Amino acid sequence: MKDISYIVSGFRENIFSQITNLADKHGAISLSQGYPDFDGPHWVRQYAQENIEHGMNQTTSAIGTVSMRNALGTNYKKYYDLDYNADSEITVTVGATEAVFCSIMALVNPGDEVIIFEPHFDTYLPAVKLAGGKPVAVTLHAPKFSFYEDEFEKAFTEKTKLVILNSPHNPSGKIFNKKELELICKLVKKHDAYLVTDEVYEFLTYDEQIHIPAATLPGMRERTITISSTGKTFGLTGWRTGWACAPPKLSHAIRMVHQNNTFSSPHPLQEALAKALSNLDDYLPEFKKLYEQKRDFLYNGLKKAGFKPFLSKSTYFILCPITHLTDKNDVEFCKELIIERKVAAIPTSAFYFKSNEGEKHIRFCFAKKNETMTNAIKNLSLNFPKI
Ligand code: GLN
Repeated sequence: MKDISYIVSGFRENIFSQITNLADKHGAISLSQGYPDFDGPHWVRQYAQENIEHGMNQTTSAIGTVSMRNALGTNYKKYYDLDYNADSEITVTVGATEAVFCSIMALVNPGDEVIIFEPHFDTYLPAVKLAGGKPVAVTLHAPKFSFYEDEFEKAFTEKTKLVILNSPHNPSGKIFNKKELELICKLVKKHDAYLVTDEVYEFLTYDEQIHIPAATLPGMRERTITISSTGKTFGLTGWRTGWACAPPKLSHAIRMVHQNNTFSSPHPLQEALAKALSNLDDYLPEFKKLYEQKRDFLYNGLKKAGFKPFLSKSTYFILCPITHLTDKNDVEFCKELIIERKVAAIPTSAFYFKSNEGEKHIRFCFAKKNETMTNAIKNLSLNFPKI
């Protein structure tokens, strides 16, 4: 029989599934895959139930329901002073992952280069490869996860088509600041490239830090695809409802990929989330407080257990260096934690394709009940051989 696609034959089961499967096998407590172990708000779930009961069960508009796109347009204006036309510039997708995938497919020709900051979210690389593009890494260096200006500048060539920027950043919890964004945008414009921004943790920012969408910087709206989703904001990651905002020509191209892939995202969930998005002012303060408390809870617990965690400024992840605890690399150490300590974390080498810095860190998720984190910390608190 003829072989499967040579690009796909290079893909492996991702690190989240690998770790979750191993954790399940050994009955380990999961602080690994990034989703809450508690439900999102009852009032939002109630809206979805009502929608299912009241006939919103058929395929809806490919670009997203009118109320969902209007709610998004209103929020981008309200929170960031960004004007996106709900008809021609906003497309609702099946999670931000699909929005990133469609954006890459819409822009990249075989041979085009795509600059990716590493550590990077795991789907970016396969998406670029499927489009026939060449991923080019720029490493963010611990502990601040900043990049060297000259390394970034050198990553650009005449083949550079786009840069993918994830801010707030998974797995580091870094928020790219104004100066960094200005530098990124300056070079994107200089090289006539596009910017695809994954902003799914936009509202999970702590210590008074603010997230700045790159599209708000001068001259960037026309060359930026702004992507986000409701999964993190409402703790409903399984609802897989995201979007891409971009000028009409780019939005049209994204829609042409989307309509031939998932076509549309779930109707009753979109309508529930449209209502929820209209209520962000009331909802966000408590939500952010809850996650900030969880961040502090896990950070302090990990310190007590002998780790030296980096204080995350956003997302629901904390990175910890491991070299003072073990001679093993991140993958071996995570396996040991699962088997010996019954706690699952994510090894970060899977988020890199150039540097081996990932071997020195592991990622914990604090979108978990305090009870879950307490039990995990108890298991982790026994002495490590090297301490
Ligand atoms: N975004 C989440 C994480 O980083 C979940 C990833 C996934 O389930 N594919 O853990």
